[in-house]
Amino acid sequence: MNMIANHPPTSELQALDAAHHMHPFTHAGELKDKGARVIARANGVTLTDTDGNDYLDAMAGLWCVNIGYGREEMAEAAARQMRELPYYNTFFQTTHVPAIALANKLAQLAPDTLNHVFFAGSGSEANDTNIRMVRTYWAQKGHPEKNIIISRKNAYHGSSMGSGSLGGMTFMHEQGGLPIPDIHHIDQPHWWAEGGDMTPEEFGLERARQLEAKIEELGADRVAAFIGEPIQGAGGVIIPPSTYWPEIQRICDKHGILLIADEVICAFGRTGKWFASETLGIRPHIMTIAKGLSSGYAPIGGSIVCDEVAEVINNCEFAHGYTYSGHPMTCAVALENLRILEEEGIVDNVANHTAAYLAKKWATLGDHPLVGEASTIGMMGAIQLTPDAERRAKFAGNEGDVGLITREHCFKNGLVMRHVGDRMIISPPLVITDAEIDTLVERAWIALDLAHKQVEAEGKM
Ligand code: PMP
Repeated sequence: MNMIANHPPTSELQALDAAHHMHPFTHAGELKDKGARVIARANGVTLTDTDGNDYLDAMAGLWCVNIGYGREEMAEAAARQMRELPYYNTFFQTTHVPAIALANKLAQLAPDTLNHVFFAGSGSEANDTNIRMVRTYWAQKGHPEKNIIISRKNAYHGSSMGSGSLGGMTFMHEQGGLPIPDIHHIDQPHWWAEGGDMTPEEFGLERARQLEAKIEELGADRVAAFIGEPIQGAGGVIIPPSTYWPEIQRICDKHGILLIADEVICAFGRTGKWFASETLGIRPHIMTIAKGLSSGYAPIGGSIVCDEVAEVINNCEFAHGYTYSGHPMTCAVALENLRILEEEGIVDNVANHTAAYLAKKWATLGDHPLVGEASTIGMMGAIQLTPDAERRAKFAGNEGDVGLITREHCFKNGLVMRHVGDRMIISPPLVITDAEIDTLVERAWIALDLAHKQVEAEGKM
């Protein structure tokens, strides 16, 4: 039997999955008892599992399916390239048409002098490239000691040794000996959780100025770069106060520190522009990209590098690369994705319509008694669950319990929404329609009502 096309019953698949498949970021023992949800197909914004249940995917997979599921042209682009040239590498003085075309297209789309692309297979790999690239840049310029990279607590930059070290998730650092040396973390600009009595604007400045204090503590002659997600994604869709990024930019400029914008989630229309750096007025030397680059249809990532850094790196042999750097099929798929985003006006439509519609509808969730704050930027949103919005209070019991309860009610009501602690987050496909946004918000409200009842019954409020 073809196990994919004509699959066995769900329970059998779940047992096989538990027996042989190790899942990322999963407590396998707990999942074994519950059984994983087995997703069979998807179309537009809708997922269907092997029992025939539909879910509105408000997370676009893992923040990546920007053009929505089921685009035939993407399958065609992959098949065409596989027939023509399924694989060749870009090492040892060779190249191929899809890698050339994609690098050119990205150079056209990216702002300022971000004109050079180093390909990788994922966001994690691209951030590992960035660590080695910025350190090599300074070493080539005669400053090998300028090798420290400053990042933020609760940042997410991937889960390899390098990118996981850049990330600021302590539960990750506790496994496997992270962080690697010479990575430092400052506090995040998360006003709801950490802003105390400050206004968001005051707090944004205070958090940005921690970068200056850290540079002064370590010495600017030791600091190579600062890395940040324009909007923290996996940390909980944390939209920084308006004062934050301008101050970070000022500090990087003043101290001659390279600025890396990790655009893995935020690029390719997510905020209504091709890159969130444009939305937030950030001028990075390097941008990390992945996810929306291919809308998740093929695994690809990369670093878009400015002229100044590329010139120095191109002056030596940069001893770095992946077998799948610029893989022809993934490049062809990414090119087709960019064509769809551009020619169908998907990015413009986010800017001119959908982001505003989502913002208006999402804001209504702020009236729910379990919700303290409902915020969006572009096509990313968060709601903060709280027993007392006025005091920005936490629930009794473990942080994340109420978020988990809410997420489970979402699933049962046909909605995929993620929880990070007690924040519920969304990042739907950019092609979501107004009617689908209405459904999303209706289902979220139902899930919040059910969670509210349960939380009250369990005495957590
Ligand atoms: N950077 C950011 C900002 C991300 O959100 C992610 C993935 N969620 C990564 C890097 C890592 O990308 P990947 O999972 O493709 O390695």
